Amino acid sequence: MRHSDNIMVILSSPSGAGKTTLTKKIQQKYQTFKVSVSHTTRKPRTNEVDGVDYNFISKDEFRKLIDKNEFYEYAKIFENYYGTHKKITEKLSKTNDIIFDIDWQGTKQLSKFKELRLIKIFLIPPNKKELKKRLVERNQNTIEEVEKRFQAFDQDVKKWKDYDYVLINKNLDNCYKQIERIITSHKKAPTVNSQITS
Ligand code: 5GP
Repeated sequence: MRHSDNIMVILSSPSGAGKTTLTKKIQQKYQTFKVSVSHTTRKPRTNEVDGVDYNFISKDEFRKLIDKNEFYEYAKIFENYYGTHKKITEKLSKTNDIIFDIDWQGTKQLSKFKELRLIKIFLIPPNKKELKKRLVERNQNTIEEVEKRFQAFDQDVKKWKDYDYVLINKNLDNCYKQIERIITSHKKAPTVNSQITS
C-alpha cells in the first residue's frame, strides 16, 4: 500500500558534514518538505528547542515507546537513543515530503518498509581534516564528544553502499544544488516501487 505521492529523503552523514544546514535550506525553499523531528534521550544543546530540533525524552520514556512498537526505527548512537516515531511520520507523510536526518542504522531499518518512497543520500565531508575543523568550529560538543564523533567516521563512512546517492560536501552551495536536482527528478518521476503499487 502506498501512502501518497510524497517522497521521503534520508540525509545521513558522519557528524559534522553539514547536514543540518542543508536540511534547513531545503525546508526553507520547498514548502512541501518538512524535517522529521526525532525522539532522543540526548540532553538538549543550548540552542536547541524541544519539539523543534528533537523531542527530548528520558531513557524510561524511550524504552516504553520501544516496548509499544511505536518507532519506525531507532538506534543507539554515542550513548543515547534516537528514533523515528511511526504515527507522527505517517501523519506527516500524508501532507508533506519528509527529510530524515538519521544515521545508517536507521536507514537500514526504514529500508525494510518497502511501501515508503525513500531516497537515500549519504553525505561525506571532503576529508578528515575538514571534518575535525567543522566539529570543533560548530562548538556544540565537548572535546570528548568531538573526539568520539571523529573516531566514528571511519566506521560510518563504510556504510555508503546502503545509499542511492553519495555526495561529497566540499562546497555547501554545490552540494545543495545536487540535492535539489535529486529531489526534483524524483518528484517528477515516480519510483519503480510506486508505479507497481499504485
Ligand atoms: P546529534 O546528537 O549530533 O544531534 O545526532 C547524532 C546522530 O544521530 C546524527 O548522525 C543523526 O543523523 C542521528 N539521528 C538523529 N535522529 C535520529 C533518529 O531518529 N534515528 C536514527 N537512527 N538516527 C538519528
